[in-house]
Amino acid sequence: MPASAVNKSENNEQKQSTLKNNDNQSKPDIGANIILIGAPGSGKGTQSVGLAERYQICPISTGDLLRHATQDKTSEEGQRIRRAMEAGGLVDDKTVMKLIDQNLNKPECRNGFLFDGFPRTIYQGEQLEQLLESRQQRIDAVLEYAIEDDLLKRRILGRLIHKPSGRTYHEEFHPPKQPMKDDVTGETLERRSDDTNETLNARLNTYHSQTKPLIDFYRKRHVHRSIDATQHVSKVLKQSIEIVDHFRQQPTYKLSEVIVEKAQNEDDLNTKSKQITNQADAEKRLSNNFLFIYNSVTSVLRERGII
Ligand code: ADP
Repeated sequence: MPASAVNKSENNEQKQSTLKNNDNQSKPDIGANIILIGAPGSGKGTQSVGLAERYQICPISTGDLLRHATQDKTSEEGQRIRRAMEAGGLVDDKTVMKLIDQNLNKPECRNGFLFDGFPRTIYQGEQLEQLLESRQQRIDAVLEYAIEDDLLKRRILGRLIHKPSGRTYHEEFHPPKQPMKDDVTGETLERRSDDTNETLNARLNTYHSQTKPLIDFYRKRHVHRSIDATQHVSKVLKQSIEIVDHFRQQPTYKLSEVIVEKAQNEDDLNTKSKQITNQADAEKRLSNNFLFIYNSVTSVLRERGII
């Protein structure tokens, strides 16, 4: 390559990296607060690894934390948790909230957090809202991994785990080289004790009746998006990142009740074309619209390197 071409390409690289750095200054690349919602087997656990790495945030799986709590066979609390899990029901909210509170303060969570399997009830959603408000934090994005129950059953009932390493396999979709043996150590694979047909049906019922209402809860807060979880793992991850990046630039989620009420009113407006009679309310709407337009325009200008 001629020297001038080398210089040109170096210059271009420098320019690109300056652009990247400037860009990073205005919207830091790491950090996000994310919630994953989805039925058992929808892929939350798999995606949480990629997302936590991408944003350098701490993954918090209440299922894993609760399973850990059941390991102490002598503890009364551990036994209570185990019974609830094996029945396919939910562990009580107080226990779950205590775990969340303890884990959010870990140093790994300083850039943000990713909840996998939490909140699972409207009550937990409300509790989380209060907790975040007191910490002056907000949720950036709630990703729902949508998938039919029949496919979930095939996914879950074939799931195999190598407990010491956490490596997972699937009898049908990702079989180990030798049946029931870990590829790396050759040790025997296991199934999760709640991955039985009976418990799974109970878990799916619990999901539909108790967790799905949270989708509407977060839709009203303008932070929810649904993703087709039947797609390839890498495609689901790519879409998840696009959505989180989009939401991170929006002033969408406000914790105060007034704003939540406003969001509900906006839903009403869409269907009923309600007239705005209150002058103060009208002014508040105008200033919110202006803020939205201002943010949209500045984000386009920033992307093009104009500001
Ligand atoms: P899955 O998503 O496949 O059901 P998890 O590991 O997330 O698996 O959860 C396993 C079990 O742990 C649940 O069926 C439930 O009993 C319990 N659990 C997990 N998270 C919560 C929560 N936020 N609230 C109550 N129970 C929970």
